[in-house]
Amino acid sequence: MDPVGVAAAPPEAGPGPAWRSKCPWGAPNTTSISCSLADVMSEQLAKELQLEEENAAFPEVVAVAEGPFITGENVDTSSDLMLAQMLQMEFDREYDAQLRREEKKINGDSKVSISFENYRKVHPYDSDSSEDEVDWQDTRHDPYRADKPTTTPRKGFIGKGKDITTKHDEVVCGRKNTARMENFAPEFQVGDGIGMDLKLSNQVFNALKQHAYSEERRSARLHEKKEHSTAEKAVDPKTRLLLYKMVNSGMLETITGCVSTGKESVVFHAYGGKSATEDKVIPPECAIKVFKTTLNEFKNRDKYIKDDYRFKDRFSKLNPRKIIRMWAEKEMHNLTRMQHAGIPCPQVVILKKHVLVMSFIGHDQVPAPKLKDVTLSIEDMKKAYDQVLNMMQQLYKECNLVHADLSEYNMLWHDGKVWLIDVSQSVEPTHPHGLEFLFRDCRNVSQFFQKGGVAEALNERELFNAVSGFNITADNEVDFQAEIEALEKMNEDHVQNHGKKLSMFSSDGDPPIYDE
Ligand code: ADP
Ligand code: MG
Repeated sequence: MDPVGVAAAPPEAGPGPAWRSKCPWGAPNTTSISCSLADVMSEQLAKELQLEEENAAFPEVVAVAEGPFITGENVDTSSDLMLAQMLQMEFDREYDAQLRREEKKINGDSKVSISFENYRKVHPYDSDSSEDEVDWQDTRHDPYRADKPTTTPRKGFIGKGKDITTKHDEVVCGRKNTARMENFAPEFQVGDGIGMDLKLSNQVFNALKQHAYSEERRSARLHEKKEHSTAEKAVDPKTRLLLYKMVNSGMLETITGCVSTGKESVVFHAYGGKSATEDKVIPPECAIKVFKTTLNEFKNRDKYIKDDYRFKDRFSKLNPRKIIRMWAEKEMHNLTRMQHAGIPCPQVVILKKHVLVMSFIGHDQVPAPKLKDVTLSIEDMKKAYDQVLNMMQQLYKECNLVHADLSEYNMLWHDGKVWLIDVSQSVEPTHPHGLEFLFRDCRNVSQFFQKGGVAEALNERELFNAVSGFNITADNEVDFQAEIEALEKMNEDHVQNHGKKLSMFSSDGDPPIYDE
Protein backbone atom coordinates (compact mmCIF):
# COMPACT_ATOMS: atom_id res chain seq x y z
CA MET A 1 0.00 0.00 0.00
CA ASP A 2 1.36 3.46 -0.77
CA PRO A 3 1.82 6.13 1.90
CA VAL A 4 -1.71 7.47 1.60
CA GLY A 5 -3.03 4.00 1.84
CA VAL A 6 -4.01 3.76 -1.77
CA ALA A 7 -2.62 1.34 -4.22
CA ALA A 8 -4.25 0.15 -7.35
CA ALA A 9 -3.15 -3.42 -7.63
CA PRO A 10 -2.19 -4.50 -11.08
CA PRO A 11 -5.06 -6.13 -12.92
CA GLU A 12 -5.27 -9.83 -12.63
CA ALA A 13 -4.32 -10.97 -16.06
CA GLY A 14 -1.91 -13.47 -17.36
CA PRO A 15 -2.30 -17.13 -16.81
CA GLY A 16 -5.77 -16.78 -15.30
CA PRO A 17 -8.82 -17.86 -17.20
CA ALA A 18 -9.63 -16.01 -20.40
CA TRP A 19 -12.53 -14.06 -18.96
CA ARG A 20 -10.25 -12.64 -16.28
CA SER A 21 -7.71 -11.25 -18.68
CA LYS A 22 -10.24 -9.25 -20.68
CA CYS A 23 -10.61 -5.58 -19.86
CA PRO A 24 -8.98 -5.19 -16.47
CA TRP A 25 -11.35 -2.84 -14.74
CA GLY A 26 -9.87 0.03 -12.95
CA ALA A 27 -6.40 -0.19 -14.45
CA PRO A 28 -5.17 3.16 -15.64
CA ASN A 29 -4.42 2.99 -19.32
CA THR A 30 -1.12 4.69 -19.81
CA THR A 31 -0.54 4.06 -23.49
CA SER A 32 -2.62 6.15 -25.81
CA ILE A 33 -3.72 4.10 -28.74
CA SER A 34 -4.79 5.88 -31.87
CA CYS A 35 -8.11 4.63 -33.12
CA SER A 36 -10.33 5.08 -36.09
CA LEU A 37 -13.65 6.90 -36.22
CA ALA A 38 -15.33 3.52 -36.38
CA ASP A 39 -13.74 2.55 -33.09
CA VAL A 40 -14.83 5.78 -31.49
CA MET A 41 -18.33 5.31 -32.79
CA SER A 42 -18.54 1.77 -31.54
CA GLU A 43 -17.13 2.82 -28.21
CA GLN A 44 -19.79 5.47 -28.01
CA LEU A 45 -22.40 2.94 -28.96
CA ALA A 46 -21.11 0.58 -26.29
CA LYS A 47 -21.26 3.38 -23.73
CA GLU A 48 -24.81 4.23 -24.74
CA LEU A 49 -25.84 0.60 -24.57
CA GLN A 50 -24.26 0.24 -21.19
CA LEU A 51 -26.00 3.36 -19.96
CA GLU A 52 -29.31 2.11 -21.29
CA GLU A 53 -28.74 -1.21 -19.63
CA GLU A 54 -27.80 0.34 -16.33
CA ASN A 55 -30.77 2.64 -16.42
CA ALA A 56 -33.03 -0.30 -17.13
CA ALA A 57 -31.39 -2.40 -14.47
CA PHE A 58 -31.44 0.25 -11.77
CA PRO A 59 -34.50 2.34 -12.43
CA GLU A 60 -34.74 2.94 -8.75
CA VAL A 61 -31.22 4.27 -8.35
CA VAL A 62 -31.37 7.69 -6.79
CA ALA A 63 -27.98 9.21 -6.22
CA VAL A 64 -27.16 11.47 -3.37
CA ALA A 65 -25.03 14.55 -3.58
CA GLU A 66 -22.17 13.93 -5.90
CA GLY A 67 -18.57 14.26 -4.98
CA PRO A 68 -15.32 12.87 -6.18
CA PHE A 69 -14.67 9.47 -4.73
CA ILE A 70 -12.92 6.36 -5.72
CA THR A 71 -13.13 5.73 -9.39
CA GLY A 72 -11.51 3.14 -11.54
CA GLU A 73 -8.79 5.55 -12.53
CA ASN A 74 -8.83 7.96 -9.67
CA VAL A 75 -8.18 5.97 -6.58
CA ASP A 76 -6.66 8.90 -4.81
CA THR A 77 -8.57 8.67 -1.62
CA SER A 78 -8.22 8.27 2.08
CA SER A 79 -10.58 7.74 4.92
CA ASP A 80 -10.41 11.46 5.64
CA LEU A 81 -11.75 12.25 2.23
CA MET A 82 -14.54 9.77 2.57
CA LEU A 83 -15.52 11.03 5.96
CA ALA A 84 -15.38 14.59 4.68
CA GLN A 85 -17.75 13.60 1.91
CA MET A 86 -20.08 11.88 4.32
CA LEU A 87 -20.08 14.99 6.44
CA GLN A 88 -20.71 17.12 3.38
CA MET A 89 -23.71 14.94 2.53
CA GLU A 90 -25.06 15.37 6.02
CA PHE A 91 -24.39 19.08 5.88
CA ASP A 92 -26.18 19.42 2.55
CA ARG A 93 -29.17 17.58 3.90
CA GLU A 94 -29.31 19.77 6.97
CA TYR A 95 -28.93 22.83 4.79
CA ASP A 96 -31.89 21.74 2.66
CA ALA A 97 -33.98 21.01 5.70
CA GLN A 98 -33.21 24.49 7.02
CA LEU A 99 -34.12 25.98 3.64
CA ARG A 100 -37.42 24.15 3.74
CA ARG A 101 -38.13 25.55 7.19
CA GLU A 102 -37.31 29.08 6.03
CA GLU A 103 -39.51 28.63 2.97
CA LYS A 104 -42.37 27.53 5.15
CA LYS A 105 -41.88 30.40 7.54
CA ILE A 106 -41.83 33.02 4.79
CA ASN A 107 -44.77 31.57 2.88
CA GLY A 108 -46.92 30.99 5.91
CA ASP A 109 -50.58 30.83 4.84
CA SER A 110 -50.03 33.10 1.88
CA LYS A 111 -51.80 32.02 -1.31
CA VAL A 112 -48.80 33.02 -3.36
CA SER A 113 -45.70 31.18 -2.28
CA ILE A 114 -42.06 31.55 -3.11
CA SER A 115 -39.77 28.61 -3.63
CA PHE A 116 -36.12 28.19 -2.66
CA GLU A 117 -35.89 25.17 -4.86
CA ASN A 118 -32.99 26.52 -6.90
CA TYR A 119 -30.92 27.00 -3.78
CA ARG A 120 -31.18 23.44 -2.56
CA LYS A 121 -28.00 21.37 -2.45
CA VAL A 122 -29.62 18.01 -2.92
CA HIS A 123 -31.80 18.13 -5.99
CA PRO A 124 -35.22 16.49 -5.59
CA TYR A 125 -34.14 13.77 -8.01
CA ASP A 126 -31.02 13.11 -6.02
CA SER A 127 -32.24 12.96 -2.50
CA ASP A 128 -31.31 9.81 -0.68
CA SER A 129 -34.03 7.23 -0.88
CA SER A 130 -32.13 4.82 1.36
CA GLU A 131 -33.48 2.15 -0.94
CA ASP A 132 -34.72 -0.80 0.99
CA GLU A 133 -35.07 1.10 4.18
CA VAL A 134 -37.88 3.29 2.91
CA ASP A 135 -41.38 2.34 3.85
CA TRP A 136 -43.41 3.37 0.92
CA GLN A 137 -46.53 5.24 1.75
CA ASP A 138 -49.85 3.95 0.66
CA THR A 139 -50.43 5.94 -2.49
CA ARG A 140 -53.91 4.63 -3.23
CA HIS A 141 -55.44 7.41 -1.27
CA ASP A 142 -53.91 10.80 -1.63
CA PRO A 143 -55.30 13.18 1.00
CA TYR A 144 -53.87 16.14 -0.85
CA ARG A 145 -55.65 15.43 -4.07
CA ALA A 146 -57.91 18.31 -5.14
CA ASP A 147 -61.51 17.60 -6.03
CA LYS A 148 -62.00 17.61 -9.75
CA PRO A 149 -63.72 20.78 -10.98
CA THR A 150 -67.11 20.24 -12.60
CA THR A 151 -66.61 19.61 -16.28
CA THR A 152 -68.47 21.32 -19.02
CA PRO A 153 -70.58 18.89 -21.06
CA ARG A 154 -69.87 18.37 -24.74
CA LYS A 155 -72.50 20.82 -25.80
CA GLY A 156 -70.13 23.52 -24.49
CA PHE A 157 -72.33 25.13 -21.83
CA ILE A 158 -74.28 24.39 -18.64
CA GLY A 159 -77.29 26.05 -17.11
CA LYS A 160 -80.25 27.72 -18.75
CA GLY A 161 -81.30 31.18 -19.88
CA LYS A 162 -79.33 33.93 -18.24
CA ASP A 163 -77.61 31.42 -15.90
CA ILE A 164 -75.86 29.76 -18.83
CA THR A 165 -72.14 29.17 -18.32
CA THR A 166 -69.92 28.39 -21.31
CA LYS A 167 -66.52 26.66 -21.31
CA HIS A 168 -64.99 30.06 -21.89
CA ASP A 169 -66.29 31.30 -18.58
CA GLU A 170 -63.39 32.96 -16.79
CA VAL A 171 -64.02 31.28 -13.44
CA VAL A 172 -64.52 27.77 -14.83
CA CYS A 173 -61.56 28.12 -17.11
CA GLY A 174 -59.34 29.46 -14.32
CA ARG A 175 -60.26 26.59 -12.01
CA LYS A 176 -59.59 24.09 -14.75
CA ASN A 177 -56.16 25.57 -15.32
CA THR A 178 -55.40 25.27 -11.63
CA ALA A 179 -56.44 21.62 -11.61
CA ARG A 180 -54.28 20.93 -14.64
CA MET A 181 -51.20 21.91 -12.68
CA GLU A 182 -51.46 18.47 -11.21
CA ASN A 183 -50.07 17.11 -14.44
CA PHE A 184 -46.81 18.94 -14.01
CA ALA A 185 -43.85 16.87 -12.93
CA PRO A 186 -44.16 15.93 -9.25
CA GLU A 187 -41.06 17.83 -8.21
CA PHE A 188 -42.35 21.02 -9.79
CA GLN A 189 -43.41 23.22 -6.92
CA VAL A 190 -46.91 24.60 -7.46
CA GLY A 191 -47.43 25.55 -3.85
CA ASP A 192 -50.83 24.78 -2.39
CA GLY A 193 -52.62 26.23 -5.42
CA ILE A 194 -54.22 22.91 -6.38
CA GLY A 195 -56.02 22.50 -3.12
CA MET A 196 -57.65 25.90 -3.11
CA ASP A 197 -60.15 27.77 -5.19
CA LEU A 198 -57.52 29.51 -7.27
CA LYS A 199 -58.30 30.72 -10.77
CA LEU A 200 -55.37 30.83 -13.13
CA SER A 201 -55.65 32.82 -16.34
CA ASN A 202 -54.69 31.07 -19.55
CA GLN A 203 -51.68 33.30 -19.93
CA VAL A 204 -50.31 32.49 -16.48
CA PHE A 205 -51.09 28.80 -16.88
CA ASN A 206 -49.27 28.63 -20.23
CA ALA A 207 -46.24 30.39 -18.82
CA LEU A 208 -46.19 27.99 -15.87
CA LYS A 209 -46.59 24.97 -18.13
CA GLN A 210 -43.69 26.08 -20.26
CA HIS A 211 -41.53 26.55 -17.21
CA ALA A 212 -42.53 23.19 -15.77
CA TYR A 213 -41.55 21.40 -18.96
CA SER A 214 -38.17 23.08 -19.25
CA GLU A 215 -37.55 22.39 -15.54
CA GLU A 216 -38.41 18.73 -16.11
CA ARG A 217 -35.95 18.49 -18.98
CA ARG A 218 -33.26 20.24 -16.94
CA SER A 219 -33.77 17.82 -14.07
CA ALA A 220 -33.71 14.84 -16.39
CA ARG A 221 -30.44 15.99 -17.90
CA LEU A 222 -28.93 16.52 -14.49
CA HIS A 223 -30.18 13.16 -13.36
CA GLU A 224 -28.79 11.41 -16.40
CA LYS A 225 -25.40 13.00 -15.85
CA LYS A 226 -25.29 11.94 -12.24
CA GLU A 227 -26.52 8.44 -13.02
CA HIS A 228 -23.73 8.03 -15.51
CA SER A 229 -21.04 9.41 -13.29
CA THR A 230 -22.07 7.36 -10.29
CA ALA A 231 -22.29 4.22 -12.37
CA GLU A 232 -18.67 4.68 -13.32
CA LYS A 233 -17.48 5.14 -9.80
CA ALA A 234 -16.10 2.16 -7.99
CA VAL A 235 -18.01 3.08 -4.90
CA ASP A 236 -21.36 4.65 -5.47
CA PRO A 237 -23.12 6.85 -2.91
CA LYS A 238 -25.14 3.94 -1.58
CA THR A 239 -22.03 1.93 -0.88
CA ARG A 240 -20.43 4.99 0.65
CA LEU A 241 -23.37 5.23 2.97
CA LEU A 242 -23.07 1.56 3.92
CA LEU A 243 -19.38 2.04 4.75
CA TYR A 244 -20.16 5.22 6.60
CA LYS A 245 -22.71 3.39 8.72
CA MET A 246 -20.18 0.70 9.57
CA VAL A 247 -17.76 3.32 10.83
CA ASN A 248 -20.53 5.25 12.52
CA SER A 249 -21.74 2.20 14.40
CA GLY A 250 -18.25 1.69 15.77
CA MET A 251 -17.87 -1.70 14.11
CA LEU A 252 -14.98 -0.30 12.09
CA GLU A 253 -12.57 2.17 13.53
CA THR A 254 -11.39 3.77 10.31
CA ILE A 255 -11.25 2.86 6.67
CA THR A 256 -7.70 3.61 5.68
CA GLY A 257 -7.67 3.13 1.96
CA CYS A 258 -7.99 0.97 -1.09
CA VAL A 259 -5.97 -2.22 -1.31
CA SER A 260 -7.08 -3.37 -4.71
CA THR A 261 -9.42 -2.46 -7.52
CA GLY A 262 -10.50 -5.41 -9.59
CA LYS A 263 -12.98 -6.01 -12.33
CA GLU A 264 -15.70 -7.12 -10.01
CA SER A 265 -14.69 -5.73 -6.69
CA VAL A 266 -12.81 -3.08 -4.78
CA VAL A 267 -11.04 -4.09 -1.58
CA PHE A 268 -10.39 -1.64 1.25
CA HIS A 269 -8.36 -1.91 4.40
CA ALA A 270 -9.95 -0.88 7.69
CA TYR A 271 -9.09 -1.00 11.34
CA GLY A 272 -11.62 -3.01 13.27
CA GLY A 273 -13.71 -1.43 15.99
CA LYS A 274 -16.04 -2.90 18.55
CA SER A 275 -18.84 -5.32 17.94
CA ALA A 276 -22.32 -4.50 19.18
CA THR A 277 -22.64 -8.08 20.43
CA GLU A 278 -20.24 -9.60 22.89
CA ASP A 279 -19.94 -12.96 21.17
CA LYS A 280 -18.45 -11.45 18.04
CA VAL A 281 -14.88 -10.23 17.96
CA ILE A 282 -13.90 -7.84 15.22
CA PRO A 283 -10.37 -8.51 13.97
CA PRO A 284 -7.94 -5.64 14.53
CA GLU A 285 -7.50 -5.25 10.78
CA CYS A 286 -10.27 -5.88 8.26
CA ALA A 287 -10.58 -6.17 4.51
CA ILE A 288 -13.77 -4.78 3.02
CA LYS A 289 -14.66 -6.31 -0.30
CA VAL A 290 -17.17 -4.20 -2.19
CA PHE A 291 -18.70 -6.06 -5.10
CA LYS A 292 -19.17 -3.74 -8.05
CA THR A 293 -22.77 -2.93 -8.64
CA THR A 294 -22.44 -2.32 -12.36
CA LEU A 295 -23.51 -5.34 -14.22
CA ASN A 296 -21.33 -5.68 -17.26
CA GLU A 297 -18.48 -7.52 -15.58
CA PHE A 298 -20.73 -9.92 -13.80
CA LYS A 299 -22.45 -11.13 -16.93
CA ASN A 300 -19.44 -13.27 -17.69
CA ARG A 301 -19.88 -15.01 -14.40
CA ASP A 302 -23.49 -16.03 -14.84
CA LYS A 303 -22.49 -19.60 -15.52
CA TYR A 304 -20.97 -19.97 -12.07
CA ILE A 305 -24.13 -19.10 -10.23
CA LYS A 306 -26.89 -19.93 -12.71
CA ASP A 307 -26.03 -23.60 -12.61
CA ASP A 308 -25.17 -23.73 -8.95
CA TYR A 309 -28.16 -25.57 -7.58
CA ARG A 310 -27.74 -23.81 -4.25
CA PHE A 311 -28.62 -20.54 -5.90
CA LYS A 312 -30.42 -21.72 -9.02
CA ASP A 313 -33.96 -21.27 -7.79
CA ARG A 314 -33.30 -17.82 -6.54
CA PHE A 315 -31.24 -16.70 -9.51
CA SER A 316 -34.11 -16.65 -11.99
CA LYS A 317 -36.30 -14.58 -9.72
CA LEU A 318 -33.80 -11.91 -8.80
CA ASN A 319 -33.10 -8.53 -10.24
CA PRO A 320 -29.51 -7.81 -11.26
CA ARG A 321 -28.73 -5.82 -8.12
CA LYS A 322 -29.74 -8.77 -5.99
CA ILE A 323 -27.68 -11.14 -8.12
CA ILE A 324 -24.60 -9.08 -7.29
CA ARG A 325 -25.47 -9.32 -3.62
CA MET A 326 -25.63 -13.05 -4.14
CA TRP A 327 -21.97 -13.04 -5.17
CA ALA A 328 -21.09 -11.46 -1.88
CA GLU A 329 -23.32 -13.94 -0.08
CA LYS A 330 -21.68 -16.79 -1.93
CA GLU A 331 -18.22 -15.63 -0.92
CA MET A 332 -19.36 -15.41 2.68
CA HIS A 333 -20.79 -18.95 2.76
CA ASN A 334 -17.80 -20.41 0.97
CA LEU A 335 -15.38 -18.73 3.36
CA THR A 336 -17.40 -20.03 6.30
CA ARG A 337 -17.12 -23.57 4.99
CA MET A 338 -13.39 -23.18 4.56
CA GLN A 339 -13.02 -21.73 8.02
CA HIS A 340 -14.77 -24.76 9.47
CA ALA A 341 -12.41 -27.08 7.65
CA GLY A 342 -9.42 -25.17 9.03
CA ILE A 343 -8.22 -23.89 5.67
CA PRO A 344 -6.28 -20.64 6.10
CA CYS A 345 -8.59 -17.96 4.66
CA PRO A 346 -10.13 -14.66 5.71
CA GLN A 347 -12.63 -14.90 8.51
CA VAL A 348 -16.02 -13.40 7.75
CA VAL A 349 -16.97 -10.46 9.93
CA ILE A 350 -20.19 -9.21 8.38
CA LEU A 351 -22.08 -9.11 5.12
CA LYS A 352 -24.19 -6.07 4.26
CA LYS A 353 -25.78 -6.18 0.85
CA HIS A 354 -22.88 -6.26 -1.63
CA VAL A 355 -20.24 -5.39 0.97
CA LEU A 356 -18.35 -8.18 2.69
CA VAL A 357 -16.16 -7.43 5.69
CA MET A 358 -13.56 -10.04 6.61
CA SER A 359 -10.29 -10.30 8.46
CA PHE A 360 -7.31 -8.72 6.74
CA ILE A 361 -4.56 -11.05 5.64
CA GLY A 362 -1.46 -8.92 6.18
CA HIS A 363 0.03 -6.55 8.73
CA ASP A 364 -0.15 -2.80 9.31
CA GLN A 365 -2.29 -2.04 6.29
CA VAL A 366 0.02 -3.98 3.99
CA PRO A 367 -1.75 -6.93 2.41
CA ALA A 368 0.11 -10.21 2.27
CA PRO A 369 1.74 -10.67 -1.12
CA LYS A 370 0.20 -12.94 -3.70
CA LEU A 371 2.15 -16.09 -4.45
CA LYS A 372 2.93 -14.66 -7.88
CA ASP A 373 4.68 -11.67 -6.31
CA VAL A 374 6.70 -13.34 -3.60
CA THR A 375 10.09 -14.97 -4.03
CA LEU A 376 10.22 -18.08 -1.91
CA SER A 377 13.17 -20.26 -1.11
CA ILE A 378 12.96 -23.73 -2.60
CA GLU A 379 12.06 -25.14 0.82
CA ASP A 380 9.21 -22.66 1.24
CA MET A 381 8.09 -23.31 -2.31
CA LYS A 382 7.94 -27.04 -1.58
CA LYS A 383 6.13 -26.34 1.70
CA ALA A 384 3.66 -24.10 -0.12
CA TYR A 385 3.03 -26.79 -2.72
CA ASP A 386 2.33 -29.48 -0.12
CA GLN A 387 -0.01 -27.11 1.63
CA VAL A 388 -1.85 -26.14 -1.57
CA LEU A 389 -2.32 -29.80 -2.51
CA ASN A 390 -3.66 -30.45 0.95
CA MET A 391 -5.98 -27.44 0.85
CA MET A 392 -7.36 -28.41 -2.56
CA GLN A 393 -8.20 -31.85 -1.19
CA GLN A 394 -9.78 -30.40 1.92
CA LEU A 395 -11.73 -27.92 -0.14
CA TYR A 396 -13.06 -30.72 -2.32
CA LYS A 397 -13.69 -33.39 0.28
CA GLU A 398 -14.50 -31.46 3.45
CA CYS A 399 -16.01 -28.27 2.08
CA ASN A 400 -17.54 -29.87 -1.01
CA LEU A 401 -16.15 -27.00 -3.06
CA VAL A 402 -14.03 -26.31 -6.10
CA HIS A 403 -12.31 -22.94 -5.95
CA ALA A 404 -12.84 -22.29 -9.67
CA ASP A 405 -10.36 -19.40 -9.83
CA LEU A 406 -7.37 -20.89 -8.09
CA SER A 407 -4.03 -19.56 -9.19
CA GLU A 408 -1.03 -17.72 -7.79
CA TYR A 409 -3.17 -14.54 -8.02
CA ASN A 410 -5.63 -15.73 -5.39
CA MET A 411 -3.20 -17.28 -2.94
CA LEU A 412 -1.49 -15.04 -0.42
CA TRP A 413 1.74 -15.82 1.42
CA HIS A 414 1.37 -14.80 5.04
CA ASP A 415 2.96 -15.98 8.29
CA GLY A 416 4.85 -18.70 6.48
CA LYS A 417 1.84 -20.30 4.82
CA VAL A 418 -0.55 -20.00 1.91
CA TRP A 419 -3.95 -18.39 2.41
CA LEU A 420 -6.80 -18.86 -0.04
CA ILE A 421 -8.93 -15.85 -1.00
CA ASP A 422 -11.48 -14.83 -3.63
CA VAL A 423 -14.03 -17.63 -3.41
CA SER A 424 -17.18 -15.87 -4.60
CA GLN A 425 -17.17 -17.97 -7.76
CA SER A 426 -16.42 -21.29 -6.03
CA VAL A 427 -18.93 -24.03 -6.75
CA GLU A 428 -19.70 -27.51 -5.58
CA PRO A 429 -18.08 -30.35 -7.55
CA THR A 430 -21.51 -31.44 -8.80
CA HIS A 431 -21.98 -28.09 -10.56
CA PRO A 432 -22.49 -28.90 -14.27
CA HIS A 433 -19.02 -27.47 -14.98
CA GLY A 434 -17.51 -28.11 -11.55
CA LEU A 435 -14.98 -30.70 -12.69
CA GLU A 436 -13.85 -28.56 -15.62
CA PHE A 437 -13.24 -25.72 -13.17
CA LEU A 438 -11.29 -28.09 -10.97
CA PHE A 439 -9.17 -29.20 -13.89
CA ARG A 440 -8.41 -25.58 -14.75
CA ASP A 441 -7.41 -24.94 -11.11
CA CYS A 442 -5.15 -27.99 -11.23
CA ARG A 443 -3.49 -26.76 -14.40
CA ASN A 444 -2.77 -23.33 -12.85
CA VAL A 445 -1.40 -24.82 -9.64
CA SER A 446 0.64 -27.48 -11.33
CA GLN A 447 2.21 -25.07 -13.84
CA PHE A 448 3.03 -22.53 -11.13
CA PHE A 449 4.82 -24.99 -8.87
CA GLN A 450 6.54 -26.87 -11.67
CA LYS A 451 7.89 -23.59 -13.02
CA GLY A 452 8.81 -22.62 -9.44
CA GLY A 453 11.15 -25.60 -9.29
CA VAL A 454 9.15 -28.03 -7.16
CA ALA A 455 10.31 -31.32 -8.63
CA GLU A 456 7.63 -33.42 -6.96
CA ALA A 457 4.75 -31.22 -8.21
CA LEU A 458 2.17 -33.44 -9.90
CA ASN A 459 1.12 -32.62 -13.41
CA GLU A 460 -2.44 -31.30 -13.87
CA ARG A 461 -3.98 -34.70 -14.60
CA GLU A 462 -2.34 -36.37 -11.62
CA LEU A 463 -3.33 -33.44 -9.45
CA PHE A 464 -6.93 -33.66 -10.63
CA ASN A 465 -7.10 -37.33 -9.66
CA ALA A 466 -5.37 -36.67 -6.34
CA VAL A 467 -7.86 -33.97 -5.42
CA SER A 468 -11.06 -35.49 -6.72
CA GLY A 469 -10.37 -39.15 -6.02
CA PHE A 470 -11.29 -40.05 -9.61
CA ASN A 471 -8.97 -42.28 -11.52
CA ILE A 472 -8.99 -40.93 -15.02
CA THR A 473 -6.28 -42.73 -16.94
CA ALA A 474 -6.15 -40.75 -20.19
CA ASP A 475 -2.56 -39.70 -20.80
CA ASN A 476 -3.24 -36.61 -22.86
CA GLU A 477 -5.17 -33.46 -22.11
CA VAL A 478 -7.81 -33.78 -24.83
CA ASP A 479 -8.89 -37.27 -23.80
CA PHE A 480 -8.67 -36.34 -20.15
CA GLN A 481 -11.00 -33.39 -20.67
CA ALA A 482 -13.39 -35.54 -22.67
CA GLU A 483 -13.60 -37.93 -19.74
CA ILE A 484 -14.22 -35.05 -17.37
CA GLU A 485 -17.06 -33.83 -19.52
CA ALA A 486 -18.48 -37.34 -19.70
CA LEU A 487 -18.46 -37.48 -15.90
CA GLU A 488 -20.24 -34.15 -15.70
CA LYS A 489 -22.82 -35.35 -18.18
CA MET A 490 -23.37 -38.49 -16.15
CA ASN A 491 -23.93 -36.41 -13.07
CA GLU A 492 -26.36 -34.15 -14.89
CA ASP A 493 -28.34 -37.15 -16.09
CA HIS A 494 -28.42 -38.44 -12.57
CA VAL A 495 -29.76 -35.13 -11.33
CA GLN A 496 -32.37 -35.13 -14.09
CA ASN A 497 -33.52 -38.63 -13.28
CA HIS A 498 -33.39 -38.45 -9.51
CA GLY A 499 -34.48 -34.88 -8.96
CA LYS A 500 -32.45 -32.19 -7.33
CA LYS A 501 -29.24 -33.34 -5.79
CA LEU A 502 -29.14 -32.88 -2.06
CA SER A 503 -26.15 -31.14 -0.58
CA MET A 504 -23.98 -33.54 1.36
CA PHE A 505 -22.63 -30.70 3.30
CA SER A 506 -24.61 -29.23 6.17
CA SER A 507 -22.37 -28.75 9.13
CA ASP A 508 -21.25 -25.19 8.57
CA GLY A 509 -24.36 -23.45 9.65
CA ASP A 510 -25.29 -22.33 6.15
CA PRO A 511 -28.87 -21.20 5.90
CA PRO A 512 -31.37 -23.86 4.83
CA ILE A 513 -31.55 -22.58 1.27
CA TYR A 514 -28.59 -24.83 0.52
CA ASP A 515 -30.28 -27.98 1.55
CA GLU A 516 -33.74 -27.46 0.14
P1 ADP B 1 -11.06 -10.01 -7.13
O1 ADP B 1 -12.27 -10.76 -7.45
O2 ADP B 1 -11.15 -8.56 -7.48
O3 ADP B 1 -9.80 -10.67 -7.62
P2 ADP B 1 -10.05 -10.68 -4.50
O4 ADP B 1 -10.88 -11.28 -3.43
O5 ADP B 1 -9.05 -11.56 -5.17
O6 ADP B 1 -11.02 -10.00 -5.54
O7 ADP B 1 -9.31 -9.43 -3.89
C1 ADP B 1 -8.48 -8.61 -4.66
C2 ADP B 1 -7.19 -8.31 -3.93
O8 ADP B 1 -7.49 -7.70 -2.70
C3 ADP B 1 -6.42 -9.55 -3.58
O9 ADP B 1 -5.54 -9.92 -4.60
C4 ADP B 1 -5.66 -9.15 -2.34
O10 ADP B 1 -4.50 -8.46 -2.67
C5 ADP B 1 -6.62 -8.18 -1.69
N1 ADP B 1 -7.43 -8.86 -0.68
C6 ADP B 1 -8.65 -9.42 -0.82
N2 ADP B 1 -9.09 -9.94 0.33
C7 ADP B 1 -8.12 -9.69 1.24
C8 ADP B 1 -7.97 -9.96 2.62
N3 ADP B 1 -8.92 -10.59 3.30
N4 ADP B 1 -6.85 -9.56 3.24
C9 ADP B 1 -5.89 -8.92 2.55
N5 ADP B 1 -5.98 -8.62 1.24
C10 ADP B 1 -7.06 -9.00 0.59
MG1 MG C 1 -8.70 -12.25 -7.05
